[in-house]
Amino acid sequence: MSDIIQLLPDHVANQIAAGEVVQRPASVVKELLENAIDAGATNIKLLLKDAGKTLIQVIDDGKGMSTTDARMCFERHATSKIQKAEDLFNLCTKGFRGEALASIAAIAHIELKTKQESEELGTCIKIEGSKVISQDFISTGKGTSIAVKNLFYNIPARRNFLKSDTVETRHIIDEFQRVALAHPSIAFLLHHNDNEVYHLKNSNLRKRIVAVFGTKMNEKLVPIDEQTDILTIEGFVAKPEFSKRKRGEQFFFVNDRFIKSSYLNHAVVNAFDGLLEQGSHPSYFLYLTVPATTIDINIHPTKTEIKFDNEKALYAMLRATVKHSLGQYNVAPVLDFNRDANLDTPYHFNSKSVSTKSPKISVDPNFNPFKEEVNTTSSSSTYKPQKQAESWEALYTSVAVETQQNQEELFDNQQEVKTQQTFQIQRKYLLSSIKSGVVLINQSLAHQRILYEDFLESITVKEANSQQLLFPVKISFSSKEIEMIYTIKTELENAGFSFDEFTKDSVTIKGIPVSVTESKITIILEELLNDIDLEVPDASFSHFDVMAKSFAKTLSIKTGTQLSEKEQEGLVNDLFSCKDPSTSPFGKPTFKTLTLNEIDNLFNS
Ligand code: ADP
Ligand code: MG
Repeated sequence: MSDIIQLLPDHVANQIAAGEVVQRPASVVKELLENAIDAGATNIKLLLKDAGKTLIQVIDDGKGMSTTDARMCFERHATSKIQKAEDLFNLCTKGFRGEALASIAAIAHIELKTKQESEELGTCIKIEGSKVISQDFISTGKGTSIAVKNLFYNIPARRNFLKSDTVETRHIIDEFQRVALAHPSIAFLLHHNDNEVYHLKNSNLRKRIVAVFGTKMNEKLVPIDEQTDILTIEGFVAKPEFSKRKRGEQFFFVNDRFIKSSYLNHAVVNAFDGLLEQGSHPSYFLYLTVPATTIDINIHPTKTEIKFDNEKALYAMLRATVKHSLGQYNVAPVLDFNRDANLDTPYHFNSKSVSTKSPKISVDPNFNPFKEEVNTTSSSSTYKPQKQAESWEALYTSVAVETQQNQEELFDNQQEVKTQQTFQIQRKYLLSSIKSGVVLINQSLAHQRILYEDFLESITVKEANSQQLLFPVKISFSSKEIEMIYTIKTELENAGFSFDEFTKDSVTIKGIPVSVTESKITIILEELLNDIDLEVPDASFSHFDVMAKSFAKTLSIKTGTQLSEKEQEGLVNDLFSCKDPSTSPFGKPTFKTLTLNEIDNLFNS
């Protein structure tokens, strides 16, 4: 038989390699940003169109490439960063495989412009699917610009596999944040569809973290700083009270490279021992510097995991350092190494003698502790019936008949019996007698169901009741959060929000859903962003549903809230007006019935 093995043509080999290197637009972003950093850039711009599906362009002011190198860099295994195998064990660059550009060029349209400082003219090369289309001399500034257009244009299966723009954008922003956090001294710009998402000036670590995550982050940070023979640890952990339900803001950098390590994460969590609420995760930004010879970066193709020579020692040191810093912070809660000296107590004030005047106390003559508190707002601390007895039918016309039966089947004719129908137990459950026995309702879960259906209805049917705020409220968020709010703006408007102004780190709100109080705006938006974030891995999620669930969870009355008789009845009525009264939006039972028979049996055994 004749021989059948042959070498794959380069462009096919590159396409196959691309499968490993380039999973999605965010992978391209990572590779291009890292190349710009390796080239010594101090200013890096990232321009995106349509979540990177149409365009990913990185422009840097780094050292540029010669004309020959500009051509070479698209060859497989072409790298300027290592020469021999031993170099692998002493890496100080991000790249070293020499396969990123070759892989990207195999699956996209590329335009490279580059010039070295010493050269008069630069080079412009266009490539489509590994084929060079044109090469020209151009006049351009020092540095490199690489535009990657129409990613996966020749692999429809991969292109179709991409998620929604929202999801892909979030992956890109994650990569961008990691790189930006690892290099605070480099200025970064991120534009998406001509909107500025990030504009990060060169700065220090604390300022960079705050610039990325919003001004609220500043007060949360506890500094970490430790130097030993085998490692330096710098950075910040967030105070325990700011820990999160999701694992969002957890960053390890080793020698300026973002890495994932559940082992080191364990060390940090361990250091928080006893300070965290169950199920919450601490935020941290930790920068480890170790000798390059003691780590092996070569074990993962996308390089977010690395191997340490002396893992156990690192673990112990990290844990001790974080614990120590947290301890110091607990003793001195305002400890802030980077604090502004102007904020310190002025010296002359320190030396002032203690005042002998007693403070004036003013008394409100109208104060009457026995007067009933008037509930002026629809605060969710007590229950305000959602629907008038007659209006629920209008809300759910299609199911009105069914739900009326729901009510009638369950309850004795309420209108006629005027004795008390419901009882609150331990400020947690409502007990109500029904035809066949009794029903026990979990007040919080029941309210979640009511709010959920209400929000879902208004978000999808687009007839939300909105209340205009007397004074618009400006809330600051990180640019990533602003970007997210912007993408779900229409849904939020359907739910009853109305927006005034979007800036890159704040949003001004001028109207809110009627069921929301002003004091709750920030928390429900924060929770919503959290919840949307948690849903990312699941491609099938709909914003509507996540939003309605999130609002319902945040706004529902909680266990511990005392309800008046009227509120109790309102809650019961509203629950059984729901399309699906039996479960909470998260699938927990909202009520249980005990039939007379079951009650009888309790006494017959
Ligand atoms: P690697 O980064 O692993 O070396 P790449 O395929 O990403 O492989 O890049 C190949 C080579 O092209 C690099 O080693 C570098 O010499 C050159 N290069 C890539 N991007 C840039 C850039 N932005 N500026 C200067 N040189 C670059
Ligand atoms: Mg590279």
